[in-house]
Amino acid sequence: MCVFCKIVKGEVPAEVVAETPRVLAFKDINPQAPVHVLVIPKEHIEDPAQLGDLAGEMFRVAVEVAGKMGIAETGFRMVMNKGPDAGQEVAHLHLHVLGGRKMSWPPG
Ligand code: 5GP
Ligand code: ZN
Repeated sequence: MCVFCKIVKGEVPAEVVAETPRVLAFKDINPQAPVHVLVIPKEHIEDPAQLGDLAGEMFRVAVEVAGKMGIAETGFRMVMNKGPDAGQEVAHLHLHVLGGRKMSWPPG
């Protein structure tokens, strides 16, 4: 079972910041910005094309997280890495919500 499935099951601890019946948001263990939260489907999904309306729910939770973490006005970045060239480490799809500092573009 993957590490994010273990977090969903409560077998690996995580700092949860928001939750719906199908989506979980928790703080990244290795934050790359003052606010760095991961929004995941509770179901183990690896293919973005399989998210269906879960994608909308993940974005709604990401916006809720931004509000809760105080970065709704200053702005934030939502990133989903897919595959080796994007630097994806965990196959279980996840949306990064990053904010609290100025970010450069294009990303490295
Ligand atoms: P990826 O590179 O796959 O897009 O992002 C994976 C993210 O998951 C990384 O930012 C990494 O720090 C985070 N991560 C990996 N393992 C754990 C964990 O056990 N707990 C938490 N909270 N985050 C994790
Ligand atoms: Zn998983």
